[in-house]
Amino acid sequence: MKTSHTVAIHSRALQKIQSGEKVYNFAAGDPVVPSNSEVIEKVIAEIKNEQIVYAPVAGLSDLRQAAATWVNEEYACNYTLENILVTTGGKFALFAAMQVLLKEGDEVLIPSPYWISYAEIAKLFKSIPVIVQTQENDWKLTPDQLKAQLTKKSKILVLNNPGNPTGALYTKEELEELLAVAKEANLFVIADEVYSELVYEGQFCSCGAIKNGPEVLVVQSCSKNFAMTGWRIGFACGPPRIIAAMTAIQSHSTTGACIVSQWAAIAALKNRKKITDHLRQTMKARRDVFFETFNQLFSCNLKKPKAGLYAFVPLKVFNISSSSAEFCTELLEKFNIACIPGSAFGQQGYVRMAFVDHEEQIRAGLFALKNCF
Ligand code: PLP
Repeated sequence: MKTSHTVAIHSRALQKIQSGEKVYNFAAGDPVVPSNSEVIEKVIAEIKNEQIVYAPVAGLSDLRQAAATWVNEEYACNYTLENILVTTGGKFALFAAMQVLLKEGDEVLIPSPYWISYAEIAKLFKSIPVIVQTQENDWKLTPDQLKAQLTKKSKILVLNNPGNPTGALYTKEELEELLAVAKEANLFVIADEVYSELVYEGQFCSCGAIKNGPEVLVVQSCSKNFAMTGWRIGFACGPPRIIAAMTAIQSHSTTGACIVSQWAAIAALKNRKKITDHLRQTMKARRDVFFETFNQLFSCNLKKPKAGLYAFVPLKVFNISSSSAEFCTELLEKFNIACIPGSAFGQQGYVRMAFVDHEEQIRAGLFALKNCF
């Protein structure tokens, strides 16, 4: 298993920053915003009043309930406590879900470009990632592309909506069509929806709200949606028997998410509208600054993604012939600009650039990038 490219490049950028170098960090999907004050106050009060003990393995009931209320109210889902597991980030929810669902030789359908960890986790459980290429016009999986890859061994479809790295956002009708194909093929769907609150145009629809579909496990997270990456709180929302099996795995692995972080997540969910409105507005403004500056500096016309935190930039705008990995290594080592190569997401010829930093940093970083050529 290879280390995640995003983590490796982000770590190298942090190493440079720690040694005093100025780095323009377009690598990590970590929204640069101050922590919400209600979250911090709640955590400080709890730490003063309560002992820091093990939380229940499946998570604090108040948090599981708050997560169910969030997705039910915002996305028309219909979950109760027994449908929700609190995990150490959305990443562990994905990990435990695949561990529960997969056996040797099973095939996991992954639309490409894809988020780095899906295929690596599937391989860990001796399963076979089947990469389904989507097209550059919108990077969205179509029913025909899915049908063409189905075999008797097909077991799971991983659907990431909104998508990382592309920002692809599926409509309700598109999801209904894909889920109908998945149901027909007896697939289990893992719907990774960790960017659901970061939609700037259009409407997010959760796979958890689609009626008469296949079995679906929704992966959610506080990381991106509430700018709380370091707290490491995620959620699995799905059928009780899958949640129970994942809870058993959690009982023998992480023992559950850190209780201090769970207090923070309860406060975030309680104040969710305020947090998400502010975050969405901030990230939309940063997206706009990124694209307007980029298009002007590089004389191109890249389309803004409707959702997410990333620009997925074709290398042709830089007029270079190197691979995306060579390009990103050179940018970081020679010019202190951190980006993630498209190859890390299964897509040569592209780089992913996060627009998560302050507007002036984004502008300065893009001017520095322009000066490299
Ligand atoms: N899914 C996607 C698409 C992501 O981009 C990430 C993080 O970058 C995750 C899941 C995992 O997020 P976390 O474990 O921080 O909740």
